Amino acid sequence: MSDRLSVSSRFDAGETASELECLPFGVHHDDEGVCLLVRMGPHRILLDCGLADVSTLVQELKKSARRGSSPEPADFVLVSHAHPDHARGLLALHKAFPLLPIYASEVTSKLLPLNWLEQPPQEVPSFCQALPLRSPVEFKDGLVAEIIPGGHLPGAVAILLTYTTKERSYRLLYTGDFFLSNSRLVEGLRLEELRGIELDVLIIEGSYGTSRHPHRRTQENQLAERINRAIAERCSVLLPTPALGLGQELLMLLRSHHYFTGRDLDIWVDGSVAVGCDAYLELLSHLPPSVQNFARHQPLFWDERIRPRVRRMQPEQRPDVSNPCIILTDSTADLNEYWQNGTGYWLTLFPEKTNIKINDQYSRVTTVETYLLAQHSDGPGTTQLIHNLRPQHVIFVHGSPAYLADLTSLEELQNRYHLHSPAAGTLVELPIGETFLQPAAPETNYEGELTELGTVVTITLPDAITADPRWRHFADTGLIEAKWQGEDLVLRGLSQRELLNQNSDRFTWSDIDCCGTCRHQRGQRCWNPASPLYNFKVTLEGYCPAFERNIEKNPES
Ligand SMILES: [Zn+2]
Ligand SMILES: [Zn+2]
Repeated sequence: MSDRLSVSSRFDAGETASELECLPFGVHHDDEGVCLLVRMGPHRILLDCGLADVSTLVQELKKSARRGSSPEPADFVLVSHAHPDHARGLLALHKAFPLLPIYASEVTSKLLPLNWLEQPPQEVPSFCQALPLRSPVEFKDGLVAEIIPGGHLPGAVAILLTYTTKERSYRLLYTGDFFLSNSRLVEGLRLEELRGIELDVLIIEGSYGTSRHPHRRTQENQLAERINRAIAERCSVLLPTPALGLGQELLMLLRSHHYFTGRDLDIWVDGSVAVGCDAYLELLSHLPPSVQNFARHQPLFWDERIRPRVRRMQPEQRPDVSNPCIILTDSTADLNEYWQNGTGYWLTLFPEKTNIKINDQYSRVTTVETYLLAQHSDGPGTTQLIHNLRPQHVIFVHGSPAYLADLTSLEELQNRYHLHSPAAGTLVELPIGETFLQPAAPETNYEGELTELGTVVTITLPDAITADPRWRHFADTGLIEAKWQGEDLVLRGLSQRELLNQNSDRFTWSDIDCCGTCRHQRGQRCWNPASPLYNFKVTLEGYCPAFERNIEKNPES
């Protein structure tokens, strides 16, 4: 796939020589992982190293080190989070360049070793230095890096790089994997932490393309409902997941969802998912307060006492678990070991968008389905982040080429930003126009939350809604009208005028202070010399501080 550029004329004027470039070694179009070399002026920063095989990267870096004056291939490496597609190449990279500094958040630095569980621990040195969150660090003269929590996984961060010359500052943000919503074990990326940075380049993941997801709670309920149905049919449930992130989210969901709390049921955790749980327990103080609070009353994961029981599975237990049960195991495990144990029929649930290759012969022992419990932002979340940051350039990585193409062909993005979706090995030049005017963000869709309590429905909307000047006029009567439009529910503020025109028994003229009920209004004109509207034609829903109620006009009926 070639580098897509939608060049707009506003870049033609005032363009300077490129201070910024990005050379991707891996863009994770499939499973190859992310690894990006960013140049800002004289500085070279490697972002993530998720390549399974780093030999080409090491060769290229050695060549470029020979050309430059420094013996190191880059100034330093910044790691967004501990997932293998961002981190699995780091150990080999460290072995090739032992002096190359590697940095990540504190939590990530502690989770990284889970990428090399198959290696003897003495061969996995701790090579990663921990950086504080939200604290700009000057790594080189004029080059500052700051990490900001990105949601998605404990320790995951977005990385903000600022390069300052005599003329100006250049800012680049790499999102890593990000998620705007709160999950059970990690809080979402907070847009307000990023507002106001004048960003030039945004490197953003596009895992879910333009697809839109249901609210997180809906996703959780659908999954819990499916598992509940299987258990009711005395069918065991097998959940293959990655070692970190999704597995622990599933455990928290199963332990706290009303379908399962108090239920006499075993949840077994096997393989590196169990190791992942142990790692989380070590990091309890970094998890959200709600989780820490939960852990004060009962163990976060291993719990034989409180139902459903969460138990670590030993290999010898695999053949004789009691049916029905739930098992969480590695997505790379040999699932036959579970299916073939003669404990009855299985429901095997894979996270959506995994390539499932299952031999036909297993259809006798298991049903295979997928579910959505998203760990990344969906399309609207992705565009929302872009419009909040309004950079000149947007580079999409981390997603199937088709999904990334869906994003780069969005008109709302094309006519505002320079869009790139480079293949690995394609240099992306990032000329920064001096005369660039930050484009206006388009209309935003706000996400709220809905609570139903008995007969009362409460809709909670984010503060950003009231920051809009239109809010002052929205429903200044304190009343709204709701009506269905297809599947959508449209909320509209009711103005005083509408109330006046409504022949409803609920509202009478006397309810409202306005020209229509003012004693100084006659013939749609104001006759009160004390009013700024004196002598003017007024609208009946109008109002001024000199308002005085017309008592006679509205005898109580
Ligand atoms: Zn990830
Ligand atoms: Zn990833």
